[in-house]
This record gives sequence, structure tokens and C-alpha cells, in this order.
Amino acid sequence: MNPRSISFRLVAWYAAWLAGIFLLLSALLYLDLRNYLEKDLRASQLRRARQIANTLLAKVPQTGESYAVSQTKAWYEPEANNRFIRITRADGALVYVSGAPKDGSFDPAEVPFFPPTAKTESAKKFKLSGGSTLLLAALNFKSSGNPDYRVEFGALLDPVETMLNHLFLQLAIGLPLAVIIITIGGYLLVRRALTPVEQIARAAERITQHNLSERLPVAQTGDELERLSLSLNRMIARLDDAFQNSKRFVADASHDLRTPLTILRGELESFAADARLDAELRDRAGSLLEEAVHLGKIVEQLFTLSRLDDGEARTEWTNFDLSDLAGSTADQMNLLAEDKGIAIAVEAKLPVLVTGNRGRLKQVIVNLLDNAIKYTPAHGAIQLRVFASNAHAVLEVADNGIGIPAESLPHIFERFYRVDAARSAESESAGLGLAIVKAICTAHGAKIEAESAGGKGTRFRIILPLAQN
Ligand code: ADP
Repeated sequence: MNPRSISFRLVAWYAAWLAGIFLLLSALLYLDLRNYLEKDLRASQLRRARQIANTLLAKVPQTGESYAVSQTKAWYEPEANNRFIRITRADGALVYVSGAPKDGSFDPAEVPFFPPTAKTESAKKFKLSGGSTLLLAALNFKSSGNPDYRVEFGALLDPVETMLNHLFLQLAIGLPLAVIIITIGGYLLVRRALTPVEQIARAAERITQHNLSERLPVAQTGDELERLSLSLNRMIARLDDAFQNSKRFVADASHDLRTPLTILRGELESFAADARLDAELRDRAGSLLEEAVHLGKIVEQLFTLSRLDDGEARTEWTNFDLSDLAGSTADQMNLLAEDKGIAIAVEAKLPVLVTGNRGRLKQVIVNLLDNAIKYTPAHGAIQLRVFASNAHAVLEVADNGIGIPAESLPHIFERFYRVDAARSAESESAGLGLAIVKAICTAHGAKIEAESAGGKGTRFRIILPLAQN
């Protein structure tokens, strides 16, 4: 799981907010309920104390204290109901105190006296030795012609605590569980919603200049992703148009330049060889002819590249032996090498069958050998190897020439790239030879690598699939 992915960040953000909101709501619910239950218990204790005072103690002058006490016991049965009742006179004399509750939850003797207060009604919580909490409501009863009394009515908070603990437990288990379930659900939902993005990214990755006619999948979701894929497709279509236009331009220009250049070359050749012209004019015609030949070579290479861009190397495929092709090509190039006293050592004995356009793959070998001869000083050595390795055919051209600087290595397959323009100009090179090699390799699904140690030579390695039998 990638923590920087949209799905992770979205779900983490949403889970954090959800957990926060749930926690806040639960805390509010818990505190509110606790408050409400305590208030309710306090109110009912006071109501009972008021009942005792107003209906029984108010009539003490007529009925006597013992009647009030016996009625209190009869009405509230404090022992049976686990309640606490205490009636004291203002002079401190105890009129009545309830006995031990039936469930033995507290000892009435342990209940402290409510501290004196000027208020008529008040309530307080007392912690008892058994750990229980008693909520004690106190009422100061005053009435003319009657002694003043204090009525204390108490009940344990334990049932409230038990209920609150139960609620706390439910929230403590239920809440994280709800957050986990909602988060997992949210994650799956977001992942599903973002699947088209993955598909679009994968399809976009596959689109190169060679398959600009392909389009991205359009998620028929009616949402932003559908709009995005449609917009990207329109952009690819515009790029495709522009690319086709520029390809057509190069193809048309190089094609249309070939004929006038051939005529020009022919005319200059005849000028250079015309004995009627004086020597200086013939010399000048000769150097113009060299330029025209050079120009013709560039136009030819451009024309080749535009045909390769059109997929020409992907046609006329046959199965053939790459070792054989390498051997015969090296033989043909030997003449050129011998001129510089360079030896081409060929190591290609075993047949290595490949599938492809034989003519174009021959051009690969020619271009690589041509470069090796060009960039290797006189009496250097070139090695041409063909062998099979790991279900692949490998073709290597190595020389011990001037090498390629490390900073230039990543660029040598670019069109019109020359390591040293002055050096290449001498050899009338335009920087298109390796671009052609690369285009042919790409058309054959082959990988091309170059390694070079400055001054010690260069090695080109082409790895292409072996023919399927
Ligand atoms: P060019 O036609 O100018 O040789 P290429 O595309 O064939 O163009 O090569 C690009 C550049 O790579 C050249 O300018 C040259 O400097 C360098 N290069 C290619 N092959 C070799 C080699 N075998 N040894 C040294 N440099 C090389």
C-alpha cells in the first residue's frame, strides 16, 4: 500500500475525521447521559424528602413524631428498597434513621451527616468504604409552630454507574469496529472508483510515437474520469496529427530532394571530368560534387528514417541466420577497413536464427562497422561477434578506437547527434547512422546497448529474440 496514493490519503483522512467525530459524539453522549441520570436521581430523592416533610413532618404537632416515622417506614420501605432515610431535629436529635439495606450494599451507620447548609434543598455525593457512592439529598424543613427538621434521603449511584460502564464498554468496542468497517468499505469504494485511473496510466505508458493511433480506455462513468480520458484522447489525437504531419513533411522533402540531387551530382560529375574546362574550374566542380554527395547521403538517411518511422522494417520478415549475415557483411566491409589497416575479426560460427527484415538488419551491421572503422585509428582492431544467449540472439561490434565520452553515451542514438561536430564533419557524418540503427532495432523488438571507455574503444550490443521454430 502506497501511503502517497490518493486512495490511501483519502481513506486515512476520512477515517481520522470519522474516528474524531465518533469519539466526540460518544464523549458527549456519555457525559450527557451521566449528567441526566444523576440529576434525575437527585430530583427523585429531593421529591421524596419533600413528601416526608410536607405531608408527615408538617403535621407532627397533631400526629406526633412517632406517627411520622412509622408512616415514612411504611411508604418508602428503605431497607427493602436499598434506600437511606435519616430525619434529625434542628437541635441535632436523631428522630429516625433507616436500617441496613436488604442487599447489604452499605452500612447506614457509615453515612456521614450532611454538612450544615443555609439552602433549603441540597444534594451531595459521598464515597463509602465499600467503594460505592451514595447520592444524599438533604432538605431543611422549617414551619411555624413546629420544630425544624432535616430530612436526608439517599440512594446508591451504583446502578447508574453500572449502566454507564456498560455504555462505555459498548462504545469502546463498537466505535473502533464501526470505524474499521467503514474505513475498509471506503477504501474498497475508492479503489474501485480509481481503477480507471490505473487503466488509463497503463494504457498511456504503452503509447509511444510508434502507436500514437492507439487511444486510452474511456471509463463510461459519466464522472471526471470519463472527462479526463476523453480530454487525453483528444490531446493524443492532436499529437498524432502533428506527428504525422511532421513525418509526412520529412518523407516528402527527402523524397522530392532525391531527384534534383541526382541530377546535380550527375552534372557536377560531368563538369569535373570535362577536359575542355580549365583545371581550377574542374577542381571547384569537384569540391561542389563532394558537397552534393554529402547532401545526398543525408537526404538518403532522412528518407530511410521516414520509411522506418512508417513501419517499413516491420514488413518482409523472414527467418535467417544472423551469423551468416554478419560474416558476409564483414567480408564486404573488409575493403574499407583494410584501407586503414584495420582488421575485422568475426566470431560467428554457430547458426543463430532470427526473424526480421534481413536487408534492414544488414544495414544495422553496416552502420555499426562503418562507425567502428571511422572512429578507430589506423591499425586498430574490430571484433564482430554473434551468439545465442538465454533464448536471445546477441550481436556485438567492439573496437579499440577513440571511444565515446560518458556524458555523450545517452545521446548517441538521437537524430543529428554528433559527439564532436568537427570530428564528424571531417568524416562527412550527420549523426543519423545510429538513429537508423535504433529505429531498426525498435522495429524488431531488440534492445541496443553501448558501452565505452574513453580512449579505449566502444562496444555496441544488440539483443534480439531468437526465431520461433
Ligand atoms: P555519424 O554518422 O556522425 O557517425 P552516428 O549516429 O553513427 O553519427 O553516431 C553518433 C555519434 O556517436 C558520432 O558522432 C560519433 O562521435 C559517436 N560514435 C558512434 N560510433 C562510435 C564508435 N564506434 N566509436 C566512437 N564514437 C562513435
